[in-house]
Amino acid sequence: MAYDYDDQNVFAKILRGEIPNSTVIETEHTLAFNDIAPQAPVHVLVIPKGPYVCHDHFVTAASDAEIVDFNRTVGRICADLGICPGDGGAGYRTISNSGADAVQEVPHFHLHILGGRPLGRMLERAD
Ligand code: AMP
Repeated sequence: MAYDYDDQNVFAKILRGEIPNSTVIETEHTLAFNDIAPQAPVHVLVIPKGPYVCHDHFVTAASDAEIVDFNRTVGRICADLGICPGDGGAGYRTISNSGADAVQEVPHFHLHILGGRPLGRMLERAD
């Protein structure tokens, strides 16, 4: 797999402390912060601290420790925000855009957690 990580992307700058962020949780391998242009009352971005371009890059190249830490952190955020359906929360959606067809804007793997309002159907057909 050939991925070239651009260390000048905005999330790399956030990880280096060159750009401020509204941190939700930070762990050994993972950082979560509020999206700068939220599309729902809850819009958190979860990123690994390692240099991974997109989701398939992360899950194939990252260590087990990074992958477990990332996923456990997603679970902790959803629980802390009270949006888990299993705990009486109203639910949420996770989205990860990878590459051109998905219109990925920032080439550092990130998971969007969206919630706090009804989110509608997953996709609107454009054709
Ligand atoms: P994507 O299209 O999946 O790559 O999403 C990139 C997301 O990053 C968008 O929702 C942006 O609003 C968000 N974003 C861009 N710059 C920042 C920033 N400095 N702090 C927080 N979120 C950002």
